[in-house]
Amino acid sequence: MKTNNKLIVMNWKCNPRSTIEASALAAVSDKKGVIICPPAVFLHIVASKLKKASLGAQNGFWAEGAYTGEYSFNQLKNIGVKYAIIGHSERRFLFNENSQIISKKIISALAANISPIVCVGEKKRTSISSAIKTVIAELNNSLIDIPKEKLGKIILAYEPVWAIGTGKNASLAEILPIISAIKKNIMDLSGKKIKAIYGGSVSPENVMEYVIDPSIDGVLVGGASTDKQKSAKIIDKIRNI
Ligand code: PEP
Repeated sequence: MKTNNKLIVMNWKCNPRSTIEASALAAVSDKKGVIICPPAVFLHIVASKLKKASLGAQNGFWAEGAYTGEYSFNQLKNIGVKYAIIGHSERRFLFNENSQIISKKIISALAANISPIVCVGEKKRTSISSAIKTVIAELNNSLIDIPKEKLGKIILAYEPVWAIGTGKNASLAEILPIISAIKKNIMDLSGKKIKAIYGGSVSPENVMEYVIDPSIDGVLVGGASTDKQKSAKIIDKIRNI
């Protein structure tokens, strides 16, 4: 099996229901370059199964102490978490996480030596120029208090909200100008190169369209990541580029 540097982030969201199912899913995706992000309740069991993939969290909190229901990035680090998804549109819109909250989470994740996978994306696509404007504003608001020298440690996930969980994946032509604007923006701010990945209805059928392009550093997979056959196919295709 060939290897390359493409990242495959598997966001299981609030799935599956049982430990047995989580273990089986983890076994299928336990490949180099894969970052498995199970719900927090399964982080321990997945950590105990992984030999090649890395462990990621779907969330985290910036403090410790009297915060019922939360868990900190330092706690995540101590159970083997290396990456954390921050600013996913489901957290922004269903749980009212604004850019200030997201910025605090990014700072705390970086302090715990966890690489943040920061999600940005426009809600509706009108024109490319308005999408670039919206995404860059969201990005800069989310990065507001992050020291410039740390920006290179962030992975950016461009996830147009209209493409998430809808089966309406964005075309390469719709993605490339945004990925390029994101990378240029970070370079202008910090002089650092970052990895930028695409997420939104990625499937075994469409994944090659994205990863074949040198400027797209990987994919963030939601729905398909909780299906054993689809996960295996996506990983296989990417690893054989
Ligand atoms: C996601 O959860 O970030 C995502 C991209 O989901 P889906 O692949 O189901 O669109």
